[in-house]
Amino acid sequence: MTKIAFYDAKPYSQKPFEEYVSQDLTITYYEHKLTRDTVESAVGHDAVCVFVNDTIDGKVAERLGEMGVGLVALRCSGYNNINLDACARHGISVVRVPSYSPPSVAEHSIALMLALNRHLIRAHARVREGNFSLNGLVGFEMCGKTVGIIGTGRIGRHAAEILTGFQCEILAYDLHPDQALSRNPRVRYTELDELYANSDILSLYVPLLPDTRYLINDTSIAKLKPGIMLINTSRGALVDTKALIRGLKNGRIGSAGLDVYEEESDYFFEDRSEDVIADDVLARLLTFNNVLITSHQAFLTREALNKIAVATLKNIREYQEGKRAGALTHGVCAKCAT
Ligand code: NAD
Repeated sequence: MTKIAFYDAKPYSQKPFEEYVSQDLTITYYEHKLTRDTVESAVGHDAVCVFVNDTIDGKVAERLGEMGVGLVALRCSGYNNINLDACARHGISVVRVPSYSPPSVAEHSIALMLALNRHLIRAHARVREGNFSLNGLVGFEMCGKTVGIIGTGRIGRHAAEILTGFQCEILAYDLHPDQALSRNPRVRYTELDELYANSDILSLYVPLLPDTRYLINDTSIAKLKPGIMLINTSRGALVDTKALIRGLKNGRIGSAGLDVYEEESDYFFEDRSEDVIADDVLARLLTFNNVLITSHQAFLTREALNKIAVATLKNIREYQEGKRAGALTHGVCAKCAT
């Protein structure tokens, strides 16, 4: 019997695991996240099952190793919250779900674009108040606009394909251009500076790695086409949020759709409506009427949740069978496994 401690459990994430779990696995569902403060709750378990805002740093990995936890099973693709070296040092294998539903995330990024462009949230709020005025709700046609896509892996490629359906022109940037995508007549790979200068919308689909941290900063923002729409459904720290706020204030950035935020772990996924927001940067972001924030929900579709459960349980089963030893011995995109 393998015992799994499941962190950051929510009804929507727990349900598919209960449906698909086999009898040789026992899962303890914890609502709290796995952090240095909560790591003792993993005692007595063989594996921990974690999500994007759990933190397995060196100290947590060391303690997990001491208590005999042999596996970290990520329910997500990104692994920037895991110290892989420390896990390897303490004999802990790490597995992830590299691709559960690129369409879910890509489609959410398009939803952010359309909602921002056509001011849907403000429009909805207005009509509910009996205000049927259209003042301030002018949008633009997507057709013919240029969208800069940074990262054309599984999600970025899917987003590019949706956007070419809108007859957008795509300027793409990736360390490893996708050959099939580059054959699309509406897609052109280019250098970042050209993409920044010519895109009406900029959408990020790269993983958070040391060389992508703060990719969008004061310097890159100064290169953007004035009034650009910025979309980030990847990881918060791709964007220097203070620089974003400066860009929004001076108009260089016309609007922003964010599903992720660099300091999201204290807020996202939780009901904090009774609390004062102590994070001044988040609080400032929330004051802009041209910023649309969702709480890391791009993955949140029925299809994705089911695939995450099935793939994670398969990973755990294969670990039980001795097929998955080592730190991220599988599941790492070959392109990103640096
Ligand atoms: P992927 O590995 O298929 O694609 C990533 C692409 O980024 C690759 O083509 C790679 O070559 C490129 N890349 C890596 N470093 C780069 C750099 N420095 N410059 C340019 N390109 C670079 O990943 P994916 O499945 O498309 O996912 C992308 C990211 O989306 C994930 O890493 C994760 O952070 C995020 N994500 C978010 C959610 C959500 O709910 N918001 C859900 C799933 C994934």
